[in-house]
Amino acid sequence: ADASGRRTVPGPNRTQDRSAQRPSGGDGAAFSNTPDTDPDLPANRAWGRAILSRAEDSRIGTDTADSATLTTEGGLDAVVHAAVTAGERWGALTGAQRGAVLDEMGRALERHRADLLEAMASEAGKTLDQGDPEVSEAIDFAHYYATLARELDAVDGARFVPSRLTVVTPPWNFPVAIPAGSTLAALAAGSGVVIKPAKPARRSGAVMVEALWEALDATQSETGVGREVLQLVQLPKGQPGRGLGQRLIAHPDVDRVILTGGYETAELFRSFRKDLPLLAETSGKNAIIVTPSADLDLAARDVAQSAFGHAGQKCSAASLVVLVGSVARSKRFHHQLVDAVRSLHVGYPWDARTQMGPIIEPPGEKLQRGLTQLGDGEHWVLEPRRLDDSDKLWSPGVRAGVRPGSEYHLTEYFGPVLGVMTAATLEEAVALVNRIEYGLTSGLHSLDAEEIAYWTEHIQAGNLYVNRGITGAIVRRQPFGGWKKSAVGAGAKAGGPNYLVGLGSWQDAPVAG
Ligand code: GLU
Repeated sequence: ADASGRRTVPGPNRTQDRSAQRPSGGDGAAFSNTPDTDPDLPANRAWGRAILSRAEDSRIGTDTADSATLTTEGGLDAVVHAAVTAGERWGALTGAQRGAVLDEMGRALERHRADLLEAMASEAGKTLDQGDPEVSEAIDFAHYYATLARELDAVDGARFVPSRLTVVTPPWNFPVAIPAGSTLAALAAGSGVVIKPAKPARRSGAVMVEALWEALDATQSETGVGREVLQLVQLPKGQPGRGLGQRLIAHPDVDRVILTGGYETAELFRSFRKDLPLLAETSGKNAIIVTPSADLDLAARDVAQSAFGHAGQKCSAASLVVLVGSVARSKRFHHQLVDAVRSLHVGYPWDARTQMGPIIEPPGEKLQRGLTQLGDGEHWVLEPRRLDDSDKLWSPGVRAGVRPGSEYHLTEYFGPVLGVMTAATLEEAVALVNRIEYGLTSGLHSLDAEEIAYWTEHIQAGNLYVNRGITGAIVRRQPFGGWKKSAVGAGAKAGGPNYLVGLGSWQDAPVAG
């Protein structure tokens, strides 16, 4: 056990097992994406089993986060003050200096891959096949934003002026990649950071922060800035969290809040402070359209994975599939889809057979409706079933007959349920999707170039995927962010080239005369 009481699972020899030809970025190297762990190598399988058995042991009771909790309002002021003070020194470094620290953070996250996977499995029910790419994404954010930090130094005729303090409020569904991405972006842009992980995934957030602290400690002698620049806050177990977030967001020293969460949360934050500079990626209600020209085998697999990966708890998940023309009329695709969904093994991550894990908490009122109530004209093709007393293990549900304008058509449920709609033409299908007020991800399965061009031109969503699943955006390759009600505040996309430039101010060089 290390100092925090957390056990570390030794990894296999990763340079040997994780494609040494594709080293992840670092030390000013050109960026390349970090490879995931190859699950087929025997050494990695044993490594994964060890992680999951520890996750099973630690799922009850352990809470390493309690060492970094806040109990009083005075505590909050001290936290903000520390982050601002260290942030001033941090912001005065060059982008290249900060980039070097971010590269060290990427390496620290890689060293803690096993700890992060364990925390996500035990606390959030993440299977390794979902969690491992998430850790890779966090590492990618570190090395990619390091390259962007260096670029800030090189802009001619203008000076980048960092924000003093950024508050990061991540969600529980990607409890490592999203808090890491937002924090690393703010740090790369020279700001002090206060992070408040989402309660149901507070331990994963704390393990992630500890890895970043380790890198700050290791580089402190060169930079003069230590771990104070990144402050972690959470309330002790059992205390209601509401007031803390509100006080933090309303704090006058806070220059910006980076939120990933529901649209209602963004509205709530705005009610805390009217002039709040908020950068928010919010809800999604995403659809995949399948046309008669599609490879139907591929489409069935991609729809099932997009809808039920991490039990549908992704902003990017497919909640609707829209079948066009003969795909809707024939039973073939229906059967393929139902077979693909029915065969998913539902269980806890430490059961090696598991393909779909539990939901994070018993369903709230909205998800409960999505899992149990049908609208007019709808019927269950696969009815969701509650599989144990925890109320967290549900079999995946598929409902057909979803009508235009119905509650199911337009509502985000954030759980393991998929609705089937039909349309006579691609144009009609696109109109059905565009009626939704969100616009985060969208998918098309079609092998027809004209259909693909029409869809690309007309579909209203930030992230478009053709002939693949609609989750799992990759840093730099698919910068992630939405349109319409899926984005609140300035619209730069996470993991893309413009993300940092909006996280500070720009001062022009004085003009003579
Ligand atoms: N970036 C994730 C993906 O592409 C989704 C993030 C979210 O659910 O907020 O699947």
